[in-house]
Formats: sequence, structure tokens, C-alpha cells
Amino acid sequence: MNLTLLGSGGDSQTPMPTCDCRVCEPARDEGPPHARLGNATFVHEANAVVDAPESIWAMLNRQNVTDVEYIFLSHHHVDHVGGLRVVQAIGRPQYPLEDWDNDDPATVVMSETTYDRLAESLDIEAQYDDRGYAEFEFLADGETMELGGGVEVTGVGAPLDPGGPEDAAMGYLFEEGDASTLVFPDETTFLDLDKVPDDLDVWVKECGMFRETPGGDPILSDELWAEERDHGTTFDQTLEQVRTVGPDRTVLTEIEEIYRRRPGEYAALADEYADLGVEFGRDGMEIEV
Ligand SMILES: [Zn+2]
Ligand SMILES: [Zn+2]
Repeated sequence: MNLTLLGSGGDSQTPMPTCDCRVCEPARDEGPPHARLGNATFVHEANAVVDAPESIWAMLNRQNVTDVEYIFLSHHHVDHVGGLRVVQAIGRPQYPLEDWDNDDPATVVMSETTYDRLAESLDIEAQYDDRGYAEFEFLADGETMELGGGVEVTGVGAPLDPGGPEDAAMGYLFEEGDASTLVFPDETTFLDLDKVPDDLDVWVKECGMFRETPGGDPILSDELWAEERDHGTTFDQTLEQVRTVGPDRTVLTEIEEIYRRRPGEYAALADEYADLGVEFGRDGMEIEV
């Protein structure tokens, strides 16, 4: 199985418009690996994308992706669905246009809870369904679906808050023969790790928040840090989760501009945890499983 990390950023992309900090300047001048678009992963054998940030239009073009059959959504937050309108471009009919229905629309897969949370904000019925831009399918926590290319995918759900619906955030476990990859790109804070197979080959996972910049300055005020920690994953928690699950390899994504680290600093940090098989992702990174 072959994956491409289309984008390794998160809620904040790098460079941030108007910012001239030490990570944004080289990102603006040199592009990747300094620059990071939003969080999205492509699974080649299944022509499947996980998540649709605003920058998905640019990312699919940048990687020369010529066919998208599935778009899996991990949860309803706007940095993961803000570019879903890209389905308009996929399978669009040729001229002369007779209607707006796409010839070969992508299938958008998500949990029922995510659908409920998006139906109104994205105006799914009027903007997508009625126009034939995409087909929609639910995948439940623990449910498996067959994709093309000999790949099957199983939903792995987690609540966004304690006591919340178990399918509010979804990771997608892609399996092809013996090869397995869990793409759980964000929101693993309350994930029950017993749901993750213990013979996992690759985990594409959120990096988690850092308390300080490499220079030792606090990234968030004490108050905001306390608030964010209630429902957000920290880098230390990510390490703990990786230690518990023990995949062969973990590729970290959702790498925020506000962490203010350069690629070399991430590489040095990954070296400290070489025993865990942890790597920091970069845009366009190819992952062979
Ligand atoms: Zn996110
Ligand atoms: Zn910046």
C-alpha cells in the first residue's frame, strides 16, 4: 500500500498570511518542507483522500492526483472539511453542460454524527446532493467497507469530548493483504487505544500541541493551555499513545505553524524517539507500507 501525505499542516497552515516569523519566512521563500498546507492523506490503491481542508484543491494538483474515488472525513471541524467543495471538480461532465451532475462523482464517507454536524453548515442537500456533485455514505465505528484496488477500510471512532458520541471523530484503518495503515489525522485525545490493532504497520497521527517554542517561550498563555489541554492532544500524549499501540512506524501530521519549529528541529526531535519509530511528516511525503 502506498500513501502520500498531501499536506502536513493543521488548523494553521505554514506560512500564515501576514506572518514574518522564523518558520513562515523560509516557508514563503522556499516552499516545502518548510511550508505546510492543511491535513490530508492520499491512499493510492483506493484513490482515497482522508480529509478535505481548504487547500485540498491545491494539494491534489500539486501531487498530480488524476482520480479521486473516495473522500473520507475524520470529523466536522472546518480545517478538515473546508475544502469539500472540491468534489465539484471531480468527475465534472464535459461541455456542453446539460446539468450539474458529475459523470463520476466522488463518494464522501463519514460517520453519521459528522454528517449531522455538517448537513446544515455545508448545506449538503442543496449544494452537493441535489447538484450531483458527490455521493454520501456513512461508515460506523467498527464497520468495514470494501474499496477498489483490494483495499478495505474500517472506521475507528472516538469521542471529541468525554461522554460524547463514539463516532464524533473517525480514524480510517486501511488494509491491503498484510499491510495496515491507520489514518487518524486529528482528535485522538479520547481514543480508546484497545480499538487500534496491535500489529499496525503505520499510524498517520496528529502531532499534538507543544507547550513551548524551541526557544523556550510559551506558545499559549497558562489559561489557554489549560483550556486546550482539556480536549486537545499534547505531543507528550502522542508519544504515550504511540508507545502503547506500538506501530512499526508513526508519521505525525497536523503540524501547526504556531509550534514555531523548523524541519531540522523536528528531525532532531524525532531522533530522540527513534526507538518509537516516530517521524514528522512533510508535504508530499511518500509512505510505503
Ligand atoms: Zn485539525
Ligand atoms: Zn509564522
